[in-house]
Amino acid sequence: MDLCKMQISKLDGTNWVPWKYRMSALLRGIDGLLDIIEGRIRKPVRPVVVDNEVDDEDIGEVEIPINVRTDCEEAPVNNNSESDHEESNELEGEDVDESDKDEDSLEPLVSIESLQLLRVRNFNTSNMFKSAVQNLQEVTQDKVQEFLDSFDTVLTDCDGVLWIDNNAIPGSAGTMNYFRKLGKKIFYVTNNSTKIRSDFARKAQELGFVANAEDILSTAYLVAHYLKDIDFSKKVYLLGSNGIGEELEAVGISYIGIGPDHVKPDFKSMKPADLDPDVGAVVVGFDEHVSYPKLMKAASYLASEECLFIATNTDERFPRADSIVVPGTGTLVRAVETCSERQATVLGKPHAYVRKFLESCGLNPARTLMIGDRCTTDIELGIRCGFQTLLVLSGVTSSKDLDQIRYEKKPPLPDVVLPKLGDLLSLIPS
Ligand SMILES: [Mg+2]
Repeated sequence: MDLCKMQISKLDGTNWVPWKYRMSALLRGIDGLLDIIEGRIRKPVRPVVVDNEVDDEDIGEVEIPINVRTDCEEAPVNNNSESDHEESNELEGEDVDESDKDEDSLEPLVSIESLQLLRVRNFNTSNMFKSAVQNLQEVTQDKVQEFLDSFDTVLTDCDGVLWIDNNAIPGSAGTMNYFRKLGKKIFYVTNNSTKIRSDFARKAQELGFVANAEDILSTAYLVAHYLKDIDFSKKVYLLGSNGIGEELEAVGISYIGIGPDHVKPDFKSMKPADLDPDVGAVVVGFDEHVSYPKLMKAASYLASEECLFIATNTDERFPRADSIVVPGTGTLVRAVETCSERQATVLGKPHAYVRKFLESCGLNPARTLMIGDRCTTDIELGIRCGFQTLLVLSGVTSSKDLDQIRYEKKPPLPDVVLPKLGDLLSLIPS
């Protein structure tokens, strides 16, 4: 009996899995579903129907009739004030293994939605180009059409995919607006923390994209959302820009630190009295005014274990049309991590918080496409969430990088590739 082709069907609204199948599944590495059935549900599990005649295609649509929330409510649930702190620590993991651990260590109170996401991730077989690094220009028109039909939601990065600085990348607006015309849901997911959502929407509109503030998910917004979620009531020391500041203001959180902070008269002259005792979090985003005094203050606040350390993202650099390298927020995050001897909780792509945020939006991962210009953030996020992925070479990742990616076959590997997003328009069957 092959559990990879197991169908779980409704039977009196309950489920039962024979022990031999549970053990077989564990040995085969089917982690999420049976782990939840065995470990998270405290009541005895009951009948299941096993049918090995099911097609792979059908497995992705199988409903799991488990009354999870009712069962789990009988288990002890940690509602004390430390739970948020524990969540914060969980989110600190940076590499794939750590975040996988994070997903595996879900609290007993699991929502049906979470289960369905795990289920889709484990049984998703509908990804036609899975990690193939396939150039869409080299497939048939039928395959392009099949690809276009395979997703209902499009998440796209902005810098390097839609525009560079204030210039739209040719064809990007036409492609995104075409997706919208097809009825696909569009979200702009950016690690850029320099603007608030309405500013991003305005910029997108000016460059020809149909966009509203509600369609934008930026790291400035995520920072405010995260701190509000944990009822943060102190002050933020912000190594960042107005985008984060305005999002913090919108949720009633005060902050200091924006703008230049020059050495005066020399760096040794800074005193403890220069620190604000109300600061309870250091947030690091993109800050063009970064300076030695700012690093001293950030590290000094972080000397207190109670002080939260949050970063918007760890992107190495901004995409740029000429040969000038513009260091990204990751540069500043590493600097503060080094001098504070602490590790930041990173909220943006591809880390756990933005993933959980997107999952809470109720997306169907198997029918969601993530578009990006950077494998380590955009494509990694897409893979971790179980989305399909499209890499474009109009931003950070170059065609030379792509050759290396193909040669090394080292994850994260995108499903499909295009020189630029606008190239899709010419491939669409008429
Ligand atoms: Mg980008």
